[in-house]
Amino acid sequence: MRIFVVNCGSSSIKYQLFDMADESVLAKGILERVGTKDAKLFHHNYISNVAIDKPVSARNHSVGLSVIIDALIDPEIGVLESVDQIDGVGHRVVHGGEQVTISSMIDEEILSIIHHNNALAPLHAPANISGIMAAGFAMPNAIQVAVFDTAFLATLPPRAYRYAVPASWYREHHVRKYGFHGTSHRYVTLRAAEILGKPVDQVNLITAHLGNGCSITAVARGKAIDHSMGMTPLEGLVMGTRSGDIDPAIVFYMQSRGMTAGQIDMALNKESGLLGLSEFSNDMRDLLAARDSGHEGAKLALEIFVYRLAKYIGSYHAILPGLDAIVLTGGIGENSAPIRWELCQQLAPLGILGDFALNETTIKGETGPITTEESPLPVLIIPTNEELMIARDTQRIVSGN
Ligand code: ADP
Repeated sequence: MRIFVVNCGSSSIKYQLFDMADESVLAKGILERVGTKDAKLFHHNYISNVAIDKPVSARNHSVGLSVIIDALIDPEIGVLESVDQIDGVGHRVVHGGEQVTISSMIDEEILSIIHHNNALAPLHAPANISGIMAAGFAMPNAIQVAVFDTAFLATLPPRAYRYAVPASWYREHHVRKYGFHGTSHRYVTLRAAEILGKPVDQVNLITAHLGNGCSITAVARGKAIDHSMGMTPLEGLVMGTRSGDIDPAIVFYMQSRGMTAGQIDMALNKESGLLGLSEFSNDMRDLLAARDSGHEGAKLALEIFVYRLAKYIGSYHAILPGLDAIVLTGGIGENSAPIRWELCQQLAPLGILGDFALNETTIKGETGPITTEESPLPVLIIPTNEELMIARDTQRIVSGN
């Protein structure tokens, strides 16, 4: 069975084509700057190991998807003879709201729910919808499946997802914590259970996805019970360009200083976090290099990043029934040894004993602990694979299970 996984962002389309017989990736790529005249396609064919990188014309997501399909069936760089060889299309959909909490075959009802959630995910929902429409048109024989970023967080109890604001805001306007990155947290939870040799419904974890966006989840007996992102991805940890938690009154104060609501929204989402603090970069690699050469802003930004992460870990430790491991994933979690080492030092009071050599070598796709065998609590590095999780869900639904 061949499954095509599509992730339509506001200005990009990421994709992977899987052969589910052995879960191998046949092709993978990204179409960037959709909707601009600078659109570019990076496409890698893993069967013959050829990669291309070329400017393309993609005035919208629908045209972009047909450019990608042309690449998949191209005699030179393609991996298929026809799109009919694709059995299912799995879409990463950002917001399932309260209505859909599991991966679902896309029908009129699911589509209208995704439409309905437009207001909750204004940047992503329109791109998700155009991706689904375009895929349905281009691959009419394939079953389409939506895999929601919010789904793994749907098990949060009211005490975790409700905000202490007037209850009518929740009833009438759906103001609550939804959480994001759920597919990544779910994938690493399953992998951690395997690595720890425990059934997933017996595993207690804190899973931290640290990429450009950062989120952390408390997992009790395999289910999410709390999570750092909120009604939108802005809440929680310090991220590349997002502020994470702040006093909400800062918004009104900055309004009184002359900023508009739109400018504040932009500043908190795009100009804050590591970028805002350092006034240098949102990228961890750049910041580590800058700190090494004495950049004070980078030093402060990284100190706050680790400190806030440690505070979340401490608070989730307090609410879990036990803790088998702390799991780190995402570009920073998987690669950034200095940050992980500083986190281990900060968490020493929880019984974390970092292993310097393991921490240095467990990078670039390696899985394993970065703590010593004596450490009462392991810190595990698990590379995430959201696309594979989406492909597996899609395969299950296509097979009618
Ligand atoms: P996204 O959320 O966009 O998927 P990623 O998961 O790719 O992001 O993570 C991007 C972050 O990972 C960036 O801050 C980047 O600097 C960091 N990163 C990637 N590779 C390394 C590395 N080798 N060392 C340190 N940080 C890294």
